[in-house]
Amino acid sequence: MNMLAPFKLSHSGRPSSRRQQAASGKRLALVIVALGVVGSLAMNAGHAAGLRAGVAKVDITNLQAGPVSDRLYVKALVLKDDVTSIAIITVDAVAIGEIGTIGNDYLPKVRARIEKELNIKPTNVLVNASHCHGVVCSDVDQRTFQAVKEAARNLVPVQVGAGRGHEDRIMENRRLKLKNGKELDVRHAYSLPPDEEVAEVGPVDPDIGILRLDRQDGRTLAVVYNFACHPIQGVPGGGNTADVTGFASKVIEDNLSDGTIALFLQGCGGDINPVLYKDVDNPRSAEPLGNMLGLSTLQALRKIGTRHDDRLTVLSETIALPRADVAQRIISLQAEQARLLQSLQGTSLNLKTFIPLVVKYNVSTEFPSYYSHRYLHEKKLGRDDLGKHDAENRRNMKQYIDNIYVMEQLTRVQTNLALLRKHQADNLAAEKRTIDVEVLGLRIGDFVLVTFPGELTVETGLAIKQASPHKLTFVAGYTNGYIYYAPTAAQLRNVGGAQEDSDCILAPEWHKLYVDKVAEILKKL
Ligand SMILES: [Zn+2]
Repeated sequence: MNMLAPFKLSHSGRPSSRRQQAASGKRLALVIVALGVVGSLAMNAGHAAGLRAGVAKVDITNLQAGPVSDRLYVKALVLKDDVTSIAIITVDAVAIGEIGTIGNDYLPKVRARIEKELNIKPTNVLVNASHCHGVVCSDVDQRTFQAVKEAARNLVPVQVGAGRGHEDRIMENRRLKLKNGKELDVRHAYSLPPDEEVAEVGPVDPDIGILRLDRQDGRTLAVVYNFACHPIQGVPGGGNTADVTGFASKVIEDNLSDGTIALFLQGCGGDINPVLYKDVDNPRSAEPLGNMLGLSTLQALRKIGTRHDDRLTVLSETIALPRADVAQRIISLQAEQARLLQSLQGTSLNLKTFIPLVVKYNVSTEFPSYYSHRYLHEKKLGRDDLGKHDAENRRNMKQYIDNIYVMEQLTRVQTNLALLRKHQADNLAAEKRTIDVEVLGLRIGDFVLVTFPGELTVETGLAIKQASPHKLTFVAGYTNGYIYYAPTAAQLRNVGGAQEDSDCILAPEWHKLYVDKVAEILKKL
């Protein structure tokens, strides 16, 4: 079907289905061979000049928030054909509202101004947060509008291409499946479980979804790329940073035509962390990970051809998702907390006496307390004072270690219990038992995207892509609002065990409603 695109005869604004296209493909091909010359003349003579696009970026780094490692940006891509205008905005921030510096009034404010001054409908404005944990400036709404305005002022005709890249070295699934059937996650907020309790890890999504927009003369104008990973690695020294995806965008921009802008769309990274997130031996650095992601994107980009393609469609739907009721879960976690507390055992040791003993008893398991000759001397005299002394120390150390494991579990329970309580209170205070969320469907040429305002886990993204009728389908969470984590229904059976299932306001039924809605949208795109 690619060869047909330059000769598209009319622009209905309505996408035709794949099946229709396939059925009529052969017939059309014949007609077009005959009409090719006429078709291209018609196109040049006033049919859609095709897609036009403009890009801009504005620095949104908060310079009052301490040392800066690298700059944070809001970036805008405005796309326009005869009937449709859209704006894709990416923000190096943790979320669009609810948490972090960006307030809940940001999205309506920015959209209203874009509509008023630039005539782009609110539902045609997509705002995605990279989910980096950098600190943005307080007038981020104004700077966002500034970026969109600048992008809209500099529209040029573009050629469109789409494809996918591959990167699997920089991230890992952070939900650990334990041998006891429960799931834990990898956070700095609490300790990992003992290694021997971990049975399995979840999947990652190595896809980099890529939209390439070139100017007519072949120079690159914009790269939109989608990938699933929390950009939370940080930088040595701890300065303000756009993290992994900030570095990736810089690599992409630095290696393409002057003025090219790389816009990162965070994917289903809810349970995906950067690798070595818990490294304690070296300062963690987002830069090498970002460089790898950027280079993998560039590698794929080189293979993506662009062509005239004026398919531009945006669909916006609102769905009502059920709010969770975790009252029972809170009660059982409180019981678990009480049980753990009571399981702490008496031990003669404290940290100061425990640590040297651990070293001694691991350096020499046979003669930990003194040189071997003293043990041999006692043996010769038929005494076992040292042996009894060692047994007592070992008993105390075991109790101390057991207490440490209980402390680690208590820390996890307490952290996740606090999240459950907060969301339970908010859900009870909410006016409705459901929450309305906005889902966008977008087609730009072969590039197809669906969105969600929460932190989708990677399995949701993988399943949507697999079920989609379109080859190049991608999913962006963290878009047009923020409603916390959105784990799958199966993951929500583990409520309270990991951050994703505790930091969540949704009942398990949300998942099918969303996936069904996405399928419906994808069919129309
Ligand atoms: Zn997150």
